[in-house]
Amino acid sequence: MNEADSENIAASFRRRGFELTDEIKKADAVVVNTCTVRQRAEDKAISQIGRLRLWKEKRPEGKLFVVGCAAQKLGGKYLKNRFPFVDEVVGAKAIEDFEDALIAQFGPDGGAEAAHQNMFRSPQTAYVTIMRGCSLKCSYCIVPAVRGPAVFLPAGEILADAAAKIKAGAKEIVLLGQTVNAWRGGKTTFSELLNKVLALPGLQRLRFMSPHPLYFDDSFTALLAREKKLARYLHLPVQSGSDRILKAMRRGYTRAQYLGLLKKLRAAVPGMTVSTDFIVGYPGETEEDFNDTLSMVAEGGFTMAYCFKYSPRTDRPEMAATISGTVMKARLEKLLAAVKKNSSLVLNERIGKIEEVLFETETYGRTSGNFSLRVKAGGTPGKMAEVLVAGAEKNTLNGKVL
Ligand code: SAH
Ligand code: SF4
Repeated sequence: MNEADSENIAASFRRRGFELTDEIKKADAVVVNTCTVRQRAEDKAISQIGRLRLWKEKRPEGKLFVVGCAAQKLGGKYLKNRFPFVDEVVGAKAIEDFEDALIAQFGPDGGAEAAHQNMFRSPQTAYVTIMRGCSLKCSYCIVPAVRGPAVFLPAGEILADAAAKIKAGAKEIVLLGQTVNAWRGGKTTFSELLNKVLALPGLQRLRFMSPHPLYFDDSFTALLAREKKLARYLHLPVQSGSDRILKAMRRGYTRAQYLGLLKKLRAAVPGMTVSTDFIVGYPGETEEDFNDTLSMVAEGGFTMAYCFKYSPRTDRPEMAATISGTVMKARLEKLLAAVKKNSSLVLNERIGKIEEVLFETETYGRTSGNFSLRVKAGGTPGKMAEVLVAGAEKNTLNGKVL
């Protein structure tokens, strides 16, 4: 979500004739887009802002914007007090009003169109936000507090955004939201929205992130089985393999329900790949709970997992960390090793199979299941091609264009 917000912010600047630069010395403006999902992210943002004091001293006419979730949590008053050289603070809840902050500092835009770029992924990929905020209440999570309750964007707006990005050169669209498959637009369901986006001319591949296990239905499974442009890949955060912890987290599903969902989807869509998120060291997590998480890695057949140490996001005493730093670290390392082992297993299972690859260069692309893939030659940038997989190395497949 933050990457998508940063893209939109960059586009607002481009409409005023600005360009991105890696040389901060030359920058006329700096935007720090902050995260606060874990304390470490917030701490990093704070020290980054602190370091910008020097830049501002050397370039007093330069403008400094602090935006996003940590800005929302800490507030403009606190930030401007602590860092008086900050010009504008825009919290995550008001991120769509960033334009106002920009007008205040640089005046209105000239109405110029901004070409599509992507600072974070391939220039072929464009993010389209379809919902903001989140209305679930996972016990550990700060997102609903800093981004507000779920708001679904209207289908018309989503389609116009996607169409404009495809027109500007995007081949792959990634629909975004915290519980992205919970999206509804009047009578239009998430699957129907996917169908409408899939029908946009020029689109090669459609992804979305992050779905929640509670919101899958049979129409989605059928669509995934039928539509080749819909990536056969899900990033489906599970958080824990222990029913006791899942309940304490208020995730709304059990281990068996999560695995049952994967089984059903894989039965309909053979070869579908799944990645996930895990939190280790949730308050009260026993060795047994942790072992249940560890065994989820192979059972879920995950190709990749983001693994995080639990970080308390409230002052409520029952949410304080109870697991020592040493145990937390040991569990994280064990989990990361299990994920690595499973990833290479899943990667090697692809050898001998045919993959649909969306090429970014003549020799590099991504499979529908989101693996990186290299060929010696024969790929056409921006086009899909079938590749026979010959080998796997580290996190990348290799093969030959058919
Ligand atoms: N909406 C998504 C997750 C968004 S937050 C979902 O529900 O699936 C991204 C990830 O950050 C989460 O999946 C979780 O693994 C991690 N996370 C969130 N809060 C955390 C906390 N307090 N400590 C550690 N990790 C956390
Ligand atoms: Fe946070 Fe995701 Fe749970 Fe929403 S669904 S509260 S964003 S972890």
